[in-house]
Amino acid sequence: MVKSPMQLEAERRAICEACRAMHAAELVVNTSGNISVRAGNLVAITPNGIPYESMQPGDVCLIDLDTGNEIENGLRPSSELPLHLAVYRSTDAGAIVHTHSLYATTLSTLVDELPAIHYQIADLGGPIRVMPYATFGSDALAASTAAGLADRRGVLMKNHGSTTIGPDLKRALTRAILLEWLCHVFYLARAGGSPSVLDAEEIGRVAANQARNAEQRERRLADRARKGS
Ligand SMILES: [Zn+2]
Repeated sequence: MVKSPMQLEAERRAICEACRAMHAAELVVNTSGNISVRAGNLVAITPNGIPYESMQPGDVCLIDLDTGNEIENGLRPSSELPLHLAVYRSTDAGAIVHTHSLYATTLSTLVDELPAIHYQIADLGGPIRVMPYATFGSDALAASTAAGLADRRGVLMKNHGSTTIGPDLKRALTRAILLEWLCHVFYLARAGGSPSVLDAEEIGRVAANQARNAEQRERRLADRARKGS
């Protein structure tokens, strides 16, 4: 019998690799956290409760974004599936990373907003909202997390953790690491006194510079690829 090809195999493989990277970066403990990628009207998402070190592409679940239904009878998807679907339906995200990283979770219990204490927060869209607590896996948590990502690429969830988005998995994961670092910096700064904060004008200037740099990088990479071919 000929084995049928695996749907979204590259995306599922990328999710397994990102899970191991997320674990290695100490953004999650045990099997907490979850990751997904959007491809057309399909969402590939981590399964529920499978250890990251042993996760295989075939373990990753596929969901129809329009209906929310699984398209294969495989493992149970992450309990935060409603959150991932709500974020895809309300943003142009290509990938989502949700973690319980140490300083993001710590700060989520202490403040209502992560202010612009470092210029790199511009990559996340500015000061980060801390959204109200709701039970994990609930529609209320899905709705508030999606709302917290309006004009932002990262959000903190009170007494829970963080969620970041990106056009692809690499950017979503990079932003999860950045958000955790910003939370760490803010926590240390607050322990030492009253941190100074950058204003919206400066964050806008940095965001414009970041966009220009990204554009130049893309152009140079494209030029190099053309010359190399
Ligand atoms: Zn969680």
